[in-house]
Amino acid sequence: MTDRPLVALVYQRPGMPWMFEGARRAGVDVVLIHRPNPRPDEALPAQLPPAVVRTLPLDIFGDEAAALAAIEELHGERPLAAIVTALDVAVPFTARAARMLGLPGLSEETSFAVRDKREMRRRLEQAGLNTPAYVGLSGPEDWKFAADLVFPVVVKPAGGFTSLGVTRVDSAEDLETTVRSVWEVCERYLGYGGSSAQFEGLVVEEYLDGDEYCIESLSYQGQVKIHTIGYKGRPEGPYFEEKVYRAPAPLSPEVEWSIIEQITGAHAALGVTDGPTHSELRLRGDEAYLLEMGARVGASGASHHIVESVTGADFTGDTFRIAMGQEPLGWNDPVWHRGTGAMYFVPVGGSGRITKIAGLSEAAADPRVDRIVQLLHPGDRILPYPEYSGYPGFVFSRHDSYEDAEQFHDALDESVVIHYE
Ligand code: ADP
Ligand code: CA
Ligand code: CA
Ligand code: CA
Repeated sequence: MTDRPLVALVYQRPGMPWMFEGARRAGVDVVLIHRPNPRPDEALPAQLPPAVVRTLPLDIFGDEAAALAAIEELHGERPLAAIVTALDVAVPFTARAARMLGLPGLSEETSFAVRDKREMRRRLEQAGLNTPAYVGLSGPEDWKFAADLVFPVVVKPAGGFTSLGVTRVDSAEDLETTVRSVWEVCERYLGYGGSSAQFEGLVVEEYLDGDEYCIESLSYQGQVKIHTIGYKGRPEGPYFEEKVYRAPAPLSPEVEWSIIEQITGAHAALGVTDGPTHSELRLRGDEAYLLEMGARVGASGASHHIVESVTGADFTGDTFRIAMGQEPLGWNDPVWHRGTGAMYFVPVGGSGRITKIAGLSEAAADPRVDRIVQLLHPGDRILPYPEYSGYPGFVFSRHDSYEDAEQFHDALDESVVIHYE
């Protein structure tokens, strides 16, 4: 036995190390709760990740009651100081488990509001925050209710992730077809029409045509501290593959102010008072419109790389500290930007069976590169969009300037290529 607090970490991909490293810096032992049958890109390695002292297979979606009972039993053996996840779909379960054990965590209403995009839109609108015109659909036949919106619009699952099924529609004539095909994707990947669907339904909302940004924040006892605002490109669809993430983004004072106002307001409107958030928003003119706010560390923990490169803050370590009810490090110090952090998403560039991913070993030799994470390998399959296969991999780097990060990403666009059979 150790004196270190024990924290349960739910469904963390072992290949994404930042949550584990944060746990180590926060001085906690981790029990890693994992899927009973992990996908190949989530398999447990022979050597456990940092801080992990134990692993526990639990089917949190298939049998929630049994999973909660197992966590209660674990808590009886050695008390848990917190329960944490970086996986968006596991946020409501994690909140429920924390409440069951009397640990700090999100309220039931908040964990619902950050997961269901209909509820999120309703709350933001009610709080007077920027909201595109939108309609919630509870079935594919409801497509007609969205026909009066100003096109283009975006159709998306109410509780989706990683742009799964998210599709742009340019005219009312194409609305029904798209709504039906997005619904089919949801049946296959999100269990719509079955008993396991968490948030069955769609949102249709007006397309926001400006730049996209990602915001990493921490909140503690209701106070919000925005760490970074990063540039995410200007994706035009019809399907929305993520490509780049660079922070801090160059911003005009008007845009920066609007982003701060909307992000701060969204924390209050959604009831997120403690813990990390990963938010995405797009501009319409100089005004920022929230797309979504996740109450977790973004990108399976990789948001830590961005924040740490820019500000030096211990983002994932602080996530564990807040989850245990402790104050984050340097909480009263202002955020100081001292570098540029970047993340490159290896582009899918096709579909089929992968034979080779070119350019990654060359990128690894670049001194600006911190780390490369490869999740798909030769032999794995990529399905055509809008289907979901997971990301092939990422390149994480640090730069002296935003311009250098941009040039580096442009060069990767030429050199990193997936070859298919
Ligand atoms: P998910 O939870 O699947 O990531 P998002 O709402 O974040 O769903 O949508 C995924 C991507 O689709 C966004 O990052 C953005 O590029 C695009 N998108 C979503 N909604 C809109 C919108 N209203 N206007 C423009 N682009 C959008
Ligand atoms: Ca999401
Ligand atoms: Ca998103
Ligand atoms: Ca303005």
